Amino acid sequence: MTILRLVVFGFLLSIATTFVAAQELNPQDDPAVQRVAPFQVFDNLYYVGAKWVSAWLLVSDQGLILFDSLYGELTDLVIDGIRELGFDPDDVRYVIVTHAHFDHIGGARRFQEEFGSVVMMTDADWQMTDEPAIYRDYPKPVRHLSVADGSTLNLGRTRLRFMVTPGHTPGVLSTRFTVYDRGYPHDAFMFGGVGLNFSGVERTESYINSVQRLQQLPDIEVNIPNHEGSGEVFERYEILQDRQDGDPHPFVDPESWTAWLEILLLNAQSKLDNEREAAGVN
Ligand SMILES: [Zn+2]
Repeated sequence: MTILRLVVFGFLLSIATTFVAAQELNPQDDPAVQRVAPFQVFDNLYYVGAKWVSAWLLVSDQGLILFDSLYGELTDLVIDGIRELGFDPDDVRYVIVTHAHFDHIGGARRFQEEFGSVVMMTDADWQMTDEPAIYRDYPKPVRHLSVADGSTLNLGRTRLRFMVTPGHTPGVLSTRFTVYDRGYPHDAFMFGGVGLNFSGVERTESYINSVQRLQQLPDIEVNIPNHEGSGEVFERYEILQDRQDGDPHPFVDPESWTAWLEILLLNAQSKLDNEREAAGVN
């Protein structure tokens, strides 16, 4: 009896240890690993995200706008970051959720509950919140505002122009807005869902259509990505820190925006070939 108990106890202990070890081992979710000291990129734009997934704070004369909320304990990095920069998370009027995957939407509910922020997303991605989560579960935000293609949001003198750019999810939300460098305005764009981790001919076609629409946008000078690697955010920030008077702003880089879209399009076109082949379409 005692031996049996010991065996059972040992078994349970090993399960518990494995569970704890597994939780500790995922550096992607670990705020200690993921922490980035928040930093200013433009007069009105700050990075408050983690290493692998981004969040951005846009400052207006009537309050704050947050792009993406991260998830789990990484949301603490966003909130702490906002405070560290001297702002108050209670002033976050809007949370723009680029798409309904856990790494972007996961903290949205918390911003609703703790800070009274209004959460904005496309209708198609609000619908995703009614379905089982694709990758990982998250606290479902209360449905606030649905954003349609071509709509705008004004907060004080700040204006966001929205585009619905499906593909990565059915309702990826992309945003055009103005950033200021020592008072000088530049057109910035956030493409809300870049990865090709989805399947289907139609979805791939809609992704391609979205990228082609972005290619037709005139005068985009600044790429603000929702994963830093999509726009070399940390490398550019290194250069920004050493910037001398008269140097260009390293984030103002229209050529790399154009070149990046070209690469996204080529990758998506080759994905489309594979998807068609898999579906038996010629
Ligand atoms: Zn995603």
